[in-house]
Amino acid sequence: MPAPGRPVAIDTDPGVDDALALMLALRSPELRVELITTVAGNVPVTTATANVLRLLALLAPARWPPVAQGAARPLRYPLHTALDVHGPDGLGGITALRQDDGQPRYPLPSQPRPSRQAVSRLVELVARYRGELTLIALGPLTNIARAIQRAPDTMRTLGQLVIMGGAIGVPGNVTPAAEFNVFVDPHAAEVVLGAGIPTLLVPLDVTRQVRLTHAFLERAGRGSRLAQAVRDLTRALLRREPEGLPLHDPLAVAVALDPSLVCTQVLPLGVETRGQLTRGMTIADRRTPPRRETALPQIRVALDVDAERALALFAARVLRPSRRPPPAAAARVTVVGSANLDYTVVAPHLPAAGETVLGRKGQMAYGGKGANQAVAAKRAGAEVVLVAKLGQDPAGQDYVRYLRHSGLNTAGLRQDPARPTGMALITVDRHGQNQIAVAPGANAALAPTDLEELRPLLTSGRVLLVQLETPLPTVTAALRVAKEAGMYTLLNPAPARRLPAALAPLVDLLVPNRGEAATLCGLATETLQQAAQAALALRRAGFATVVITLGADGLVYTEGDGVFWLPALPVPVRDTTAAGDTFVGYLAWGLAAGWPLRDALPLANAAAALAVTRVGAQPAIPWRDEAERLRWRHAAAQRPQRLQ
Ligand code: ADP
Repeated sequence: MPAPGRPVAIDTDPGVDDALALMLALRSPELRVELITTVAGNVPVTTATANVLRLLALLAPARWPPVAQGAARPLRYPLHTALDVHGPDGLGGITALRQDDGQPRYPLPSQPRPSRQAVSRLVELVARYRGELTLIALGPLTNIARAIQRAPDTMRTLGQLVIMGGAIGVPGNVTPAAEFNVFVDPHAAEVVLGAGIPTLLVPLDVTRQVRLTHAFLERAGRGSRLAQAVRDLTRALLRREPEGLPLHDPLAVAVALDPSLVCTQVLPLGVETRGQLTRGMTIADRRTPPRRETALPQIRVALDVDAERALALFAARVLRPSRRPPPAAAARVTVVGSANLDYTVVAPHLPAAGETVLGRKGQMAYGGKGANQAVAAKRAGAEVVLVAKLGQDPAGQDYVRYLRHSGLNTAGLRQDPARPTGMALITVDRHGQNQIAVAPGANAALAPTDLEELRPLLTSGRVLLVQLETPLPTVTAALRVAKEAGMYTLLNPAPARRLPAALAPLVDLLVPNRGEAATLCGLATETLQQAAQAALALRRAGFATVVITLGADGLVYTEGDGVFWLPALPVPVRDTTAAGDTFVGYLAWGLAAGWPLRDALPLANAAAALAVTRVGAQPAIPWRDEAERLRWRHAAAQRPQRLQ
């Protein structure tokens, strides 16, 4: 059954007021948003796309409309953005805001994957709905002009085109004569207005009359999450515009919802494409009596607006507390593994037997693969349960407090009265060579019986993640319990050792590094082809899916019968500690969030690449928005290549 509401497509370049317009559209049951296309304008087009995804994540609509990226520059002029108005992220700086736990307040999701085919998608949609579809244009008209140039007959069947743009009897906003959207791509505006599509222009003449003031926001918008987002989005702009922020784009959506909000007139309308002072000016022939001979297209233009009613509509849909259910539950990951304190001394050389070396500096850090991976999954966005054993010593108390403070669920932590918290003594020389001695302490006492007791907690996650720094019987028991509960199981077989054949069927995904893979299957893993062969051998040994991480060479993974290679991201390397832990933690989160492996890998790859640019273990693990940004920057190069 199709969802209710009138089908609309929105072409946009968010932009603070575009963001508000998207909120209005997606919160209005009369409209069914079938497609969002992005265009360069207020911001470069890739930023526009990212901003749309960010807003969709915030709005969490029941149906996510497809998103398609369009033109990166106007038809003929170079791009002129409005980053000075909307802030460097286009959204008034909200991308830098963080919650108390350090997570970004408005994270960038990785799903859905936007297409790059805005123009084709638009034409397809118009062809599918014909006269039923309303297209709302909130940015420069480049995509729509391209669609008209490609399929003029199809585009003429569009039900209605509502354009926020132009200034008829009022000054412009980007120059004395021109409104921003038309100024940025006047050639596109000329094509669109001349195409013979039923068009309603919503110019500055009306949008300037509908103003969102600080006082209105305080009155109308307390409490709801979306009202908070509107306050965050508009804070910087409202400081500059004390008489209120004109709701340019939201008014275009409001008019598509309720045409009675505006008074309109059909006027012959032209666009100045070239003038030195007048580029982008929209000129209406308002001479009386009308001159019949004018060659300009006849366009319906909104010239007056019931501003109070328009604002009330915006407030009712966007600012009032929502009765809708909260977005889907977070991805849950359970990690069963180790927690160690790492004591590192940087010394001029590694000590020989019996020698004492005076180091330059020493530091204590929270480590252990289990805890590192749990923190990585948490920073990726998962709800994480960590099952681990520490001592009852001060170090153990301190570690538990730290994990709780990091936002992990610590109900699965046990403290052993008889053993100390696990400890790693690390000496690093000035060439970066190291020497490590580990005393597993309480980690060695994490027993299958502990897991029995914790079964309900352990199985509350969707993905179980284990490593080999805890006793093998415990790892095996954890895998068995998780499999019985229908969880997806991920084994990071580190440190390297051979494994009993009976373990493989309990593992859905095996993620060794190069050395661990070689130890497990007894094959060389130096070249990509050798690594691919090793992955296939591990599959034959019974592991359902295998990812082998290859440091600066990226990773190989099995899919179906094939083996694919994903290159590493080019980053300046400072310290590779925790690269693997970051990778595995992020991967666990992606899989728990329901992504297919091939979609989860590029983000894990980007997160691990960031980790190698930073020193230390847990301090080097990035937050999801940082990883997303890097991933997006390298999206084009992150195409898997088939090796086998
Ligand atoms: P481990 O830290 O367990 O030894 P790897 O060295 O294989 O694991 O690194 C794990 C992942 O970290 C790699 O697959 C890659 O995504 C990332 N990574 C590691 N080294 C680099 C590097 N030099 N450049 C970019 N990414 C890297």
